[in-house]
Amino acid sequence: MTLFDVVFSGNDAVYGLTEKAIDDAIAANGADKAVAFPDTAYSLPCYYAVTGTKVTNLGELKEALGVVKSLMTREKRLHDAFMSGIATALCAEFIEVLKYMDGAAPYAAPEAGHLPDAAIRELGVPLVTGDIPGVAVILGAAPTAEEGVELVKSYQGQGILVTLVGGIIDQCVEKGLKMGANVRVIPLGKDVTAVIHAVSVAVRAALIFGNIQPGDAAGLMKYTMERVPAFVNAFAPLNDVIVACGAGAIALGFPVITNEETFRVPKSLIVQKDVSKFNATSLEARDIKLKITKIDIPVAFASAFEGEIIRRGDMQVEFDGSRVDCFELVLSKDATEVEDHKIELIGPDIDEMPEGSKQSIAYIVEVAGKSMQSDFESVFERKFHSYLNCVEGMMHTGQRDMIRIRISKETYQAGFRLKHIGEVLYARVKSEFAAVVDKCQVKIITDPAQCTELRHSLAIPMFDKRDERLTTLTDEGVDVYYSCIMCQAFSPSHVCVVTPERLGLCGAVSWLDAKATNELDPQGPCQVITKERVIDERIGEYEDVNEAVKKFSQGALEDVSLYSLIEKPMTSCGCFECICGIEPLSNGVCIANREYAGMTPIGMTFSELASMTGGGVQTPGFMGHGKHFISSKKFMKAEGGVARIVWMPKDLKEQVAERLNATAKELYGIDNFTDMIGDETIAEDPETLLEFLTEKGHPALGMEPMM
Ligand code: SF4
Repeated sequence: MTLFDVVFSGNDAVYGLTEKAIDDAIAANGADKAVAFPDTAYSLPCYYAVTGTKVTNLGELKEALGVVKSLMTREKRLHDAFMSGIATALCAEFIEVLKYMDGAAPYAAPEAGHLPDAAIRELGVPLVTGDIPGVAVILGAAPTAEEGVELVKSYQGQGILVTLVGGIIDQCVEKGLKMGANVRVIPLGKDVTAVIHAVSVAVRAALIFGNIQPGDAAGLMKYTMERVPAFVNAFAPLNDVIVACGAGAIALGFPVITNEETFRVPKSLIVQKDVSKFNATSLEARDIKLKITKIDIPVAFASAFEGEIIRRGDMQVEFDGSRVDCFELVLSKDATEVEDHKIELIGPDIDEMPEGSKQSIAYIVEVAGKSMQSDFESVFERKFHSYLNCVEGMMHTGQRDMIRIRISKETYQAGFRLKHIGEVLYARVKSEFAAVVDKCQVKIITDPAQCTELRHSLAIPMFDKRDERLTTLTDEGVDVYYSCIMCQAFSPSHVCVVTPERLGLCGAVSWLDAKATNELDPQGPCQVITKERVIDERIGEYEDVNEAVKKFSQGALEDVSLYSLIEKPMTSCGCFECICGIEPLSNGVCIANREYAGMTPIGMTFSELASMTGGGVQTPGFMGHGKHFISSKKFMKAEGGVARIVWMPKDLKEQVAERLNATAKELYGIDNFTDMIGDETIAEDPETLLEFLTEKGHPALGMEPMM
């Protein structure tokens, strides 16, 4: 038997199963029965991406199977094997979608099954920054549970997103491994067809970030091969179906590494008998480069732990800024005042704190460097949240003097002590900000009286001073803006123009962040953009900004405005925190955030709205943006500003209320503006929303027509 025979036979077997499953479903429910995956704008994302056709019911699914059959040619050529691999993957998608009929939830924790669009959008920034350097798909059961779990942990320790299919899930459960999206180990399902949920993530990345048009199968395969750093680890024994699925993975550019003595295809189907070498072989095959962070602490340090939750019963100690005095602070100092790598603890260590108790903590990171600027202090400080969350068994929330830190019992038992917080902060600040930090020392204070004293005499006055500086930072008050092209790894023509009053649409890059990034790496993703030649002040259009955008988008984008939703709006890459779109009846805009899964009065969910834009193209009437931009005086300034906001989810409204109300008061003299804005508890359709807005006297109703 040749490799072709095996792929064709596996493909035929899955096709037969799919045909029967669809026929049975039609017999039981009728051809009109609706069918689609939940929480996605793409119905059956893989089939839609390959063919450009959205399947909506069982009858169409049956027709789609006919299209799949046409891919199953049987010449013994590489192209035929790849197409049969793709056909197998599509059949797997059909089998899986049937499980979701009638709103069923076929997967129970820890298995995730289909992942929503919002989860993929969240992966955008960590993938482009390299915090997630790759995506592993582990299939089948390892020779032993120990080996399987060790492999998973090795990827997790490198920040790689791990998805699990089949027997490996039980092995991880057996060994008590923490799993879930928050620790980047996602069990998809036990059936081999569940592998399609990993493929679906890669395919939707191409649609969401890459502006790949549905139906452009060649463009899709090129995109996944060049831009999605995924690979497959398939444990022996392999059967024909797994090999056929593997052919589909290889067609998308994902190498398959297996410990089964089988056919070999250079760089694509790789036999590695030693499971302990799967990790190194996979990284080499996919050419994944890791950011090495060597930190002297007794537990793992990786971005995979960023979302780890430490429950009350699992914590050794908690530092809680809402109950006792705590803070974190960066201060620039003269070089003579800083002793590099000095880590000082003032007060008791964890050993001396009762188990489960709440304690005070303050850590002051003092830095010195010729190019250090006080504006960078808050940029470093905001990174502490991510640094400390990367420690296995540590949870950090909040910032400034409202931090909360939990350290788990396991991490404490592994030898973690407070000086290790200093080690983490020292190592990360020194490596990430090497261009401006020559020396760094960390003071950790746990003595409650000193924490209280320093919080009031040092930290709060410093935070107040910074806030004052931020309020004076306006677009008019600076000479330059910055580009950010970090997301071009996935969205090749997307450029964010970051201004003091308009942060990057991911919400993670403010003007100060971009400025610091530029100082640290002048040839890097954030470049200076001058703003000297104004074309149209109303919409915020500048000749120099247009030139920069054209250059950084490699000519894909000619001109862009900074303040308009309708005229030449800024592009979106796909990882935006929020999206806004015009709601014609109320003459305003609705905003939905990524976390909101319900319906908006526009008649679309966040995912559906989000699918209208992205991929680095301009879509007048829709705009991706960061949460903080909502309260900016520059939000849709050309169309009348924040007074156009008529609806947003309740949670989001609460998050932005304070700032948004202040902006509305300043711009229009309106008190408590957010009380005039609808949410899902008030209206999910335009007519009810209009009634509410009329009753409240919402200003959008009296403004110039938007369209
Ligand atoms: S600022 Fe824009 S380009 Fe930069 S990371 Fe955020 S979304 Fe991507």
